[in-house]
Amino acid sequence: MSNQKLIVGNWKMNGSLAGNAALIADLLAGLGQSACDVAVCPPAVYLAQLQALLAGSPVLLGAQNVAMHEAGAYTGDVSAAMLRDFGVRYCLCGHSERRKYQAESDVHVALKAKLALAAGITPIVCVGETVQEREAGMTEFIVKRQLSAVIHLVGPCVSEIVVAYEPVWAIGTGQTATPEQAQAVHAVLRAQIRAATERAARVRILYGGSMNADNAAQLLTQPDIDGGLIGGASLKAPDFLKILAACVPQ
Ligand code: PEP
Repeated sequence: MSNQKLIVGNWKMNGSLAGNAALIADLLAGLGQSACDVAVCPPAVYLAQLQALLAGSPVLLGAQNVAMHEAGAYTGDVSAAMLRDFGVRYCLCGHSERRKYQAESDVHVALKAKLALAAGITPIVCVGETVQEREAGMTEFIVKRQLSAVIHLVGPCVSEIVVAYEPVWAIGTGQTATPEQAQAVHAVLRAQIRAATERAARVRILYGGSMNADNAAQLLTQPDIDGGLIGGASLKAPDFLKILAACVPQ
């Protein structure tokens, strides 16, 4: 595995055939020699389009979600094997918007991560506390509980996942965690992964939550911040490219 930084764009429920083509054209035109690994996660219906648009480029394809069952009578779901059929390399698991709006529990998230791994897809396991939880001094407890569900289910394969620390209060709010706040939580997660596998150094821990062109460089120089999960700023090629440019060669 590369230990370069990893920058992942989460397009959420945005995009259109024409808009996606224009965004990827601008992104690839401005990409040049990137010092980091890059992926984009479009809505599932656009995976085939993105697979074609990204063919031969260094930008990898990610999905925003995966089913927690292998196959069968689960109307509306998309399995890990189906994602793999379309060249998907990464899959967000347990984004806070899914935990909140789709009632995804820690156990659901762990099942999704396990099935993604079994299909050869790297799960990006999202963890993070709400503002109330932070104010109650529960940040460490919450993120460790969320990650430990995954560790419990996948065991030593935890070395093959990516973790994204995304404080819920920072997502889409413009209120970023300070580099020190983010680093403190990343260090906790790193220690938890170290306790679970000897190969903890392989695991990249991304920060997500209003990361943008102005704050990316500072966040990305923290010792335990191995990349970013970018929502809003991944929808505009110039903004996303500026974040990629903030990654210095490792
Ligand atoms: C996200 O959706 O994962 C995210 C980090 O969003 P934003 O960058 O818009 O805060």
